[in-house]
Amino acid sequence: MVTAMNVQELATAVIAGDRRALARAITRVESGRADHRAQAVELVALARASGRQALRIGLSGTPGVGKSTFIEAFGMMLVAQGLRVAVLAVDPSSARSGGSILGDKTRMERLSREPEAFIRPSPSQAQMGGVARRTREAVALCEAAGFDIVLVETVGVGQSETVVAEICDLFILLLAPAGGDELQGVKRGIMEMADLILVNKADGDLKPAALRTMADYSGALRLLRRRPQDPEGFPKTTCVSAVQETGLQSAWEEMQSLAAWRRNHGHWDSRRAQQARHWFGEEVRQGLLSVLDREPARGLMAALGARVAAGEVSPEAAALQMLSLLGRD
Ligand code: GDP
Repeated sequence: MVTAMNVQELATAVIAGDRRALARAITRVESGRADHRAQAVELVALARASGRQALRIGLSGTPGVGKSTFIEAFGMMLVAQGLRVAVLAVDPSSARSGGSILGDKTRMERLSREPEAFIRPSPSQAQMGGVARRTREAVALCEAAGFDIVLVETVGVGQSETVVAEICDLFILLLAPAGGDELQGVKRGIMEMADLILVNKADGDLKPAALRTMADYSGALRLLRRRPQDPEGFPKTTCVSAVQETGLQSAWEEMQSLAAWRRNHGHWDSRRAQQARHWFGEEVRQGLLSVLDREPARGLMAALGARVAAGEVSPEAAALQMLSLLGRD
């Protein structure tokens, strides 16, 4: 918890690259306390004023495809190239051991020991709106702290890919080699979000299946409409082995070439601008919803709900009445 340091001092320490300050700042934006919110907003505003930008990479994949193995190998490779790497997790469902997908530090043992890397486990809070805000703000703090790459990992359940795609510059889908010939039940919507599909575990006995899966997905991607934010050939599928550390450099080159193309064609800034507009709308929507959870709206909802249940007023009329009461607030 932030005790002695005020918001300004904390922001200054974050911008100076103090990792403990960064960890504390993220704790502050994760806090659900109403009196912490204004401070968090101020902190993030000060961080954003640094003007630093990282390449934000979203990475999604079902449990077991090799996300943490990949992030560790990929992160180590980037660090070896002189880049500073932050890893954040989005885990709304708390699908794994006691809550946090990155909670178990041993899953990225080497990377977590690297002075140029920063790994932040996901918080245990489960509400999607809160997770989205926390991740967005944590990304901004990592950028201000001078990280070159911010990797945002999600287990890919429910809405979390959409949230990650709306936060990141690039969205990567990690897959494992398929046994059969169907497309592993990957939802079309997720495929449409992906900029790069990486088929992991392209090693040993799994290599032929990985190549087949890559061909299947390449075919499926060709059927999708080309998006204006993509150069020829994207979205793309390629094979990697996180364990053998093969294909990582070429995957990185694909990411860099896509990012450079988008920067040069104005899509980078327009995407970030569109994302900022999206999150503004979401914050307002979440704010309005939270009004309903507080008095006096909560009591009015309960009272009107009881009258609706008793048949004294129709659901539609009661809703109109509720909305007009809120409007007068
Ligand atoms: P996550 O749940 O997506 O984070 O997956 P993990 O990184 O924990 O990996 C799940 C399992 O797949 C582990 O047993 C890994 O050793 C294995 N695995 C991960 N990457 C590879 C790879 O490139 N090749 C092979 N053969 N196994 C891998």
